[in-house]
Amino acid sequence: MEEIARGVYVSFEYEGANCGLIETDEGAIVVDTPIIPEEAKEWAARVAEKTDRVLYVFNTDHHRAHILGNQYFDAPVLAHEYAWKEMAGYKDTFIERTKNLYKKQPDIQKQFSETVIVKPELTFTGYMLMTKGHRKLHFMYLGGHTPATSGLYIPDVNILFAGDLVVVDEHPALGQCDSKEWLKQLDWLQEQKLNAIVPGHGSVCNIEAIEPMRCYIRTMRARVRSQYKQGRTKAESAVVISQMIDMFPYKPGRKSIIEKRIRAGVSRIYDEMKVFYGVAEPKTRYPRSTMRPKPLKSLLA
Ligand SMILES: [Zn+2]
Repeated sequence: MEEIARGVYVSFEYEGANCGLIETDEGAIVVDTPIIPEEAKEWAARVAEKTDRVLYVFNTDHHRAHILGNQYFDAPVLAHEYAWKEMAGYKDTFIERTKNLYKKQPDIQKQFSETVIVKPELTFTGYMLMTKGHRKLHFMYLGGHTPATSGLYIPDVNILFAGDLVVVDEHPALGQCDSKEWLKQLDWLQEQKLNAIVPGHGSVCNIEAIEPMRCYIRTMRARVRSQYKQGRTKAESAVVISQMIDMFPYKPGRKSIIEKRIRAGVSRIYDEMKVFYGVAEPKTRYPRSTMRPKPLKSLLA
């Protein structure tokens, strides 16, 4: 793991998501846990080298790449209320579906035999301030990517863990998004004068990471809208997948996973178009972010 600021560490090497560790005078906060059990154990071991007390594990959303290693930490899980709602619905079939993702890697697949889903014990909806010794930790709903997507702002180092609101050199997952809300949140983020952003995936960044995200979401919206307006069905609109696949890099073996991710995004945006053009009611009421008007710099250091 890399110390990106005083007492703030990030591990970039695990599959699926970046994992963070924030030290305080009273113990540490862990941000997200790896999907692959052996990696999650390794992450827990690295954390144990730095601290003898983990206070909380914070999940930035409910997706498997952020939560499946929770069981390796002896600390309560903290997440947005919507993440808790989603995770409360996870059954054994969730682990089975995870195993299916590793069909071609039996060594990894068999590790999931011990997987238990540890759900959040503490939740928040809009914003929560935690004070631990000299450090203040601002947990906040960000939205956009999912109705649970949340970040952690640490004012003394002026760093935001942004969850999957921002990903670097990776196809963002639009399958559960509110694409307009996502664009608005990126506009808001652009205005924040941060020392660094820790994205959900990819290297530490700052506002330069925002434009490629914006471009991707806008392009997806425009292409799906065009399909919709030409009267194509959702299934026919899958032609958009091949138009999007080269917008971000992907590892050779992951093409089908990325295609699946784009397909889910096309489906989501297609549903948004139906709502926009008045032929369908929204399936879920997507919460608006409460954080938008507040500049992060105004939060207590
Ligand atoms: Zn996610």
